[in-house]
Amino acid sequence: MIAQYLALKAEAEGCLLFYRMGDFFELFFEDAKVAAGVLDIALTARGEHDGAPIPMCGVPVHSAESYLARLIRAGHRVAIAEQIETPDEARRRGGSKALVSRAIVRFVTAGTLTEEALLDPRRANVLAALAPLRDAIGVAWVDISTGRIELEECGANALPAVLARIGACESVAPEGWNGSAEAIARPAADFRSEAGEAKLKALHGVATLDGFGSFTRPMLAAVGGLIAYLEHVGRGRLPLLLPPSTRAAGDRLVMDAATCASLEVLEAQGGGRAGSLFAALDRCATGAGARLLASDLAAPLTGRAEIEARHAAVAHLHRDPVLRADLRASLRRCPDLARALGRIAAGRGSPRDLGQLRDGLSEARAIGALLRTSELPPLLAEAAAATGGHSALIDHLSRALVPAPPAERASGGFIAAGYDHALDALRETSGNARRAIAALEACYREETGTPSLKIRHNKVLGYFIEVPARHADRLMAPDSGFAHRQTMAGVVRFNSLGLHEEASRIAEAGSHAQAAEDAHFEDLCAAVTACTQAIAATADGLARIDVAAALAERAAEGDWCRPEMAETPCLEIAGGRHPVVEAALAKLGERFVANDCRLGPDDRLWLIGGPNMGGKSTFLRQNALILLLAQAGSFVPATSARIGIADRLFSRVGAADNLARGRSTFMVEMVETAAILSQATERSFVILDEVGRGTSTYDGMAIAWAVVEAVHETTRCRCLFATHYHELARLAESCDALSLHHVRAKEWKGELVLLHELARGAVDRSYGLAVARLAGLPAPVVKRARTILDRLEKGRAATGGLAAGLGDLPLFAAAAMVDEPPPTDPLAEALAAIDPDALSPREALEALYRLKRAAVEREA
Ligand code: ATP
Repeated sequence: MIAQYLALKAEAEGCLLFYRMGDFFELFFEDAKVAAGVLDIALTARGEHDGAPIPMCGVPVHSAESYLARLIRAGHRVAIAEQIETPDEARRRGGSKALVSRAIVRFVTAGTLTEEALLDPRRANVLAALAPLRDAIGVAWVDISTGRIELEECGANALPAVLARIGACESVAPEGWNGSAEAIARPAADFRSEAGEAKLKALHGVATLDGFGSFTRPMLAAVGGLIAYLEHVGRGRLPLLLPPSTRAAGDRLVMDAATCASLEVLEAQGGGRAGSLFAALDRCATGAGARLLASDLAAPLTGRAEIEARHAAVAHLHRDPVLRADLRASLRRCPDLARALGRIAAGRGSPRDLGQLRDGLSEARAIGALLRTSELPPLLAEAAAATGGHSALIDHLSRALVPAPPAERASGGFIAAGYDHALDALRETSGNARRAIAALEACYREETGTPSLKIRHNKVLGYFIEVPARHADRLMAPDSGFAHRQTMAGVVRFNSLGLHEEASRIAEAGSHAQAAEDAHFEDLCAAVTACTQAIAATADGLARIDVAAALAERAAEGDWCRPEMAETPCLEIAGGRHPVVEAALAKLGERFVANDCRLGPDDRLWLIGGPNMGGKSTFLRQNALILLLAQAGSFVPATSARIGIADRLFSRVGAADNLARGRSTFMVEMVETAAILSQATERSFVILDEVGRGTSTYDGMAIAWAVVEAVHETTRCRCLFATHYHELARLAESCDALSLHHVRAKEWKGELVLLHELARGAVDRSYGLAVARLAGLPAPVVKRARTILDRLEKGRAATGGLAAGLGDLPLFAAAAMVDEPPPTDPLAEALAAIDPDALSPREALEALYRLKRAAVEREA
């Protein structure tokens, strides 16, 4: 057995091996140690190998899915080795000692799941393949749970942004290529463009791919690698793959990983969806709608017509709350068509999936009918058109299936009565036999005078007669007509000719019925797969309707407006709000203060100052989010918005840590800023939040200064730049498209009041110390900070300060002042002199009194 195990393990190529033994999947050796740790199950040992016990652990087959899910989430891949013959077959083949043959039937990896239980209904599960070819990289990605596949080509620089957008949970690339640290290495030969082209053609039975779009060599190389990997993990069996679509460079708003993370588009910074833009927006009634919304947000559009078409769809449903409510109610009843189809086409479908298709397709018709009662904008008209048809299939499934088909195919019972008369007859036979058995039970009770006699059934014995041991004698008699089968503690089991006959009738009818149901199941699946593309189109149409209705709902809820799109690089937002912060404040019963933003060619860079906690970051992000929402096709949280379509969106926050990737805080900040300066264009929109914060004051200020100048002079993009360096205000003198703004605050009765209101002009002072006090920094520390600040400011005034002369920075003088020994504080000295470990409780109490006295004296 171990030899068989080791051979399979070698084939598993680094995956954990689930080795089927009866009702368990067992893991051995290192795999067992890893799995026992991740799954928190007992690690045992069995037998010996090379003189040492073999570590082992196992999971029951019936609950294997949840264990698989945990292993996959922990970043592992799993190979499933099944028994491919029964023990009986093995014995017939090779005698009583023959080992049951096993083979790896499937690899389970993060990107190749289709099981409903292992997938998040509201998130696409993406597998990507990357293929470098000369100086381009082909990217192919697929959500195999729905069969959607897209191809695209990009330059090496753009790859991180593309990967951030598609958010693959697993990726593959040719071995020997080091362009992606996460990708799994696969044979380079898989990534040949000719092979990719041939595979696509074979898959869709076409002689040319022209009908699907135009594909470049790198795209074809990537799709080749993708399909080869899918063949590998499915052991030759491919999942559903719809005809691929392509993305042209430039038809999506480019956002890199840092921007998506900092704007918290799909996930909040701490991980998880709560607190993200997506969560603040997602009013979708279906999982498919939520997946489409997430993909729209991750890849907003750049084409005006396409963006406006989405706005028109939202506007239509925004205007008509009754239609919207009806649609959403109907959508909520809609099962996940795309995923049910994916499972059926991959050969892993269940009767329940067929039932979901039946219900989903008929609900889709109802949704189409609801929509067609009004004059529709083109996008909705197109989606509504895709919801129709399928009458023959719906009718077929409705006749064939019971109302709620089971998830398990093996137990049967999913074909409706009346669909197949032969099946009905078989069911009747077994029903009759069951009734006959019930009658036999009554008859045997009477015959033997044993009212506690029962006819029971189990998997091992089938039907049997059971009596308590004390009554067994009556049945044991040789002429009783009962044959002894088993003696258990307290009960004895028997058979009888009559029971055997009825039981055989049931078994025979049952196995025929099972075969009949199996055959019907295959036929129904074939009927479904014959309509794959039309069903996928219906699923797409429903998802689009759901997204439009959800966005309309969100807009109505939050009083959002339809943005006007423009080709000029402007950003004119009146009464703008941050959707996530606004919702969070609303929960606390607080009001969000709306703010305007007006960027245009003559005033394209806003420098924003103001106190900590004043709302600078919030203002920056809300404008970036409004632009992103508008280009993704949504209404926006503002009273009015006119938005020049951007080609790229960048968001940088000073000093965001990425220690996990081995870069210091400041290094990350600079690498990201460098990326903006090299990639942003005049059509881009950039928000920079406290760039330069991660280093010493003067270095930081100098960098911030130079970055603002570069953005203004060279990049010339729209930019909001928040900073605490007042000195940068001097830039307004030399940069004519730059203006100064601040978030307002005032001190009232010695308390700081943050107004969260944006106003024109430079900030007159910062309130760092006031905020520090608000935050509960101890009073002596705040007081001390005030002294140091006064001195620093005096020093700066005396030397002219940084802003007065960049050529002659008084760094040394300033540093010397900070390093000057602080005036002595008797209280601090007394405190330092105390060694708590050396004190008795009584001495400690006395020391405390002493300190308290000293404090009172000092205050006086
Ligand atoms: P820092 O300089 O310390 O980074 P900041 O000026 O960037 O601060 P934010 O982080 O934007 O300040 O905002 C701080 C908090 O103020 C937010 O978490 C939010 O609770 C509140 N806030 C920000 N903007 C508004 C607003 N427009 N209306 C109401 N509350 C706001």
